[in-house]
Amino acid sequence: MRPERIVVVGNGIAGLTAGDSLRTAGFDGELTIVGDEQHSPYSRPALSKAALLDAGDMASHRLPPSTHEARELLGARAVRLDVEKKAVVLDDGSSLPYDGVVIATGSRARRLGDGNIAANGNELTLRNLEDALALRHRLADRPSVVVVGGSALGMEIASGCLSVGCEVTLVSHHRPMARQLGPYLSEVFLAAARSSGLKLAPSQAVGLHDAGGHPVVELAGGSRLGADLVVSAVGDVPNTEWLASSGLLAHGRLEVDTRGRLRPDIVAAGDVAAFPTARGVGRIPLWTSTIEQSKAAALALVKGDEAPELDFQPYFWTEQFGLNLKASGFLPLAGMPGFSEGDPHEGGAIMRWSHEDGTGTAVAINYRIPIPKLRRLSKAGSPAGSSAA
Ligand SMILES: Cc1cc2nc3c(=O)[nH]c(=O)nc-3n(C[C@H](O)[C@H](O)[C@H](O)COP(=O)(O)OP(=O)(O)OC[C@H]3O[C@@H](n4cnc5c(N)ncnc54)[C@H](O)[C@@H]3O)c2cc1C
Repeated sequence: MRPERIVVVGNGIAGLTAGDSLRTAGFDGELTIVGDEQHSPYSRPALSKAALLDAGDMASHRLPPSTHEARELLGARAVRLDVEKKAVVLDDGSSLPYDGVVIATGSRARRLGDGNIAANGNELTLRNLEDALALRHRLADRPSVVVVGGSALGMEIASGCLSVGCEVTLVSHHRPMARQLGPYLSEVFLAAARSSGLKLAPSQAVGLHDAGGHPVVELAGGSRLGADLVVSAVGDVPNTEWLASSGLLAHGRLEVDTRGRLRPDIVAAGDVAAFPTARGVGRIPLWTSTIEQSKAAALALVKGDEAPELDFQPYFWTEQFGLNLKASGFLPLAGMPGFSEGDPHEGGAIMRWSHEDGTGTAVAINYRIPIPKLRRLSKAGSPAGSSAA
């Protein structure tokens, strides 16, 4: 039976894309989108890039308006999914009956501190617009900053803080960017970061204390690192608590099938969902992955088994320390690239790695190439199969 009432829970890029895709797929019934933020959807990736540097009015995070014409309930939080009564229960006690549900509640920043530290304002995280505004506000005084976490997000935050004139130390117990990109490319980023003035503390942060209003990060081995401000980028936690009694969680995870379904009437997409890829079932909390999942899940809700399975194409980008990287294909990458044109340490390069399963990953650093061409290069057996140059 085709659904007549669909409720989308979460108003980030997954919720927005699902809403628009439902309409494109021909769903003309009652569409409600519930989001606990007060804002219409915006670009989260911009928050750790241009938004830290934008002068005056921040604009880089704005997205084009939606086309779904849904009833949007902003500032409303779903607290329970009643799968028997087919209703989404909200924090004001009201219920939204549904024939179909899209779970798009994303994730939140994991915190280093225990809550008491966070309460005095000294540990910031960067997940939403308020976080970005708070960080911008604090950076105006050019504080000394310790960033904890060597992922792309931690490195982007460190890069932004350095660009506005702060002294920045990055704490990471693994080589920054290595888990995400592999050793060869992480070296490229490390070199750029060092020459931009980033200080590195190659250690694990094991605690965060307050010393007279200033945060102090405690490192493994007993040493301490003080600063005016600590920003942690230590991972994310999927927002699944509201689903605790739904019976949909398996081992605490929301595992969807290749069409984004948990049941015929319930789909999930984006940072909240673990989905099957060629490298196993897992969350891939990235922007393009979220968009692809949301389109597939929306179609599955309307068309069931006739909807195509998700043909997942990994795509990742980052901007930091003067480097702009785009990668099509699975990461991280072992060894040296099989093909390389240019030099990533000098000016820019386009590179390709081959994998044992016959697939490949194409990476462009400071190299102008449209994404479809990068995708073609990642799939081609040899660079001659692409028109990258
Ligand atoms: C600072 C930053 C930089 C990033 N940079 C990149 C990048 O360069 N490249 C890249 O590929 N990816 C990047 N990402 C990741 C990318 O932004 C995410 O993968 C994407 O935003 C996930 O979208 P989503 O809609 O699944 O989740 P979210 O964007 O988290 O949206 C979920 C929404 O649901 C709301 N919600 C949660 N629980 C409830 C509830 N119970 N009821 C109602 N609403 C609820 C949340 O408040 C939120 O508004 C970045 C992320 C961050 C935070």
